[in-house]
Amino acid sequence: MERITGVRELRDHVAQARRDGARIGFVPTMGALHEGHAQLLRRARSESDLLVASIFVNPLQFGPNEDLAQYPRDPDGDAGRAADAGTDVLFLPAESEIYPRAPRVTVHPGPLAERWEGRVRPGHFAGVLTVVLKLLNIVRPDVTVFGRKDFQQAALVRALIQDFDLPVRLIVEPTVREPDGLALSSRNRYLSPAERAEAQRIPGALDAVVEQFRQGERDVGSLLAPARAVLGAEPAIAVDYLTIVDAETLEPRECAAPGDVALVAARVGSTRLLDNAVLELS
Ligand code: AMP
Repeated sequence: MERITGVRELRDHVAQARRDGARIGFVPTMGALHEGHAQLLRRARSESDLLVASIFVNPLQFGPNEDLAQYPRDPDGDAGRAADAGTDVLFLPAESEIYPRAPRVTVHPGPLAERWEGRVRPGHFAGVLTVVLKLLNIVRPDVTVFGRKDFQQAALVRALIQDFDLPVRLIVEPTVREPDGLALSSRNRYLSPAERAEAQRIPGALDAVVEQFRQGERDVGSLLAPARAVLGAEPAIAVDYLTIVDAETLEPRECAAPGDVALVAARVGSTRLLDNAVLELS
């Protein structure tokens, strides 16, 4: 695996591979890689001849009181995990490489970003989509893989690709979980042992929503009530939102239908965790 830090060098490397007929796969990450990232990399590997992964903790997507400075960094572990998952090129740009000057133009995310994460974290998705657009333009992959764990983000990346006519295919991979159901996240390492134990209530609450849906309940208030009770009973957990949305528009539903998605964001202690579950009949 080659490590590249410069935009020019990365472009040249990928351009050469493309001239040689390689299909380019790309997985952008913020590092602190775990098995969820590895699944994305393996999927991209299976769809490409040259696999590029990036690690860039994008300051533009963090609010002033968020965890940019503390965000976990694990360069040695990341290199091993990326290589094990089949990465050919690990792109590790410095901030000055991606933002040689303060951006004058950024992506305006539009209505898909007005609710949920976008409301709790103003400016977050403008930062995400701006860096994703830049990285897609730098790497120019044929295929890029994102995780369903960040459901709203994946919906916005799909909209970015469609609305800006970007010549890349998007694959969204299912969420990889711990044995007790907790979605893997780089931020899980912030959790104390006691918080980690409480955090499993989040996937448990989503499972209960899906189970009731399978048993025929369609009223969203009734579907969410037990989940709210489970999460509300635990003082260490503060729910930012728990909702059922249309998977395309992300508008909240009153009556759930197959393919809708239950979205949850909750703080466990000071750690914010996201999760979701698709309402499927089987
Ligand atoms: P991050 O490094 O947190 O910005 O995430 C990079 C990519 O990995 C994003 O597309 C995430 O949605 C995806 N991802 C994060 N956690 C998981 C997980 N548990 N399962 C699958 N994909 C994930």
